[in-house]
Amino acid sequence: MDCLFCRIVSGQIPAKKIHEDEHCIGFFDINPQAPLHALFIPKRHIATVNDLTSEDRELAGHLLVAAGKFAKAQGVSDAGFRLVMNCNGDGGQTVFHLHLHLLAGRALAWPPG
Ligand code: AMP
Ligand code: ZN
Repeated sequence: MDCLFCRIVSGQIPAKKIHEDEHCIGFFDINPQAPLHALFIPKRHIATVNDLTSEDRELAGHLLVAAGKFAKAQGVSDAGFRLVMNCNGDGGQTVFHLHLHLLAGRALAWPPG
């Protein structure tokens, strides 16, 4: 399958990895939108939030916990941060392998554009 993030998981494409465990990896976003911008993805290919099933509950929670731990380790948890999962066209998704954005290091506007 021709999936950019599956290639990062398999090591075919390099990434600045910040986290790895049995179920997921985390790496810095190549085009950061905040001083700290990382992505947490499942190792298994899941295209969008629409493709999550109840069997994926633990995996989906796992991404949240990994991102929260990394935010704490980076010292941004008290100041605050944002976790985002874009889905399909209106959500602004461009890479169709599920990913959780962690954005931190500046005050983020709300609502998003
Ligand atoms: P989304 O628009 O939610 O699908 O987000 C995709 C994200 O992947 C964007 O923020 C991109 O900057 C990021 N991205 C694309 N290619 C790479 C790559 N090779 N390494 C790291 N991040 C990437
Ligand atoms: Zn994939």
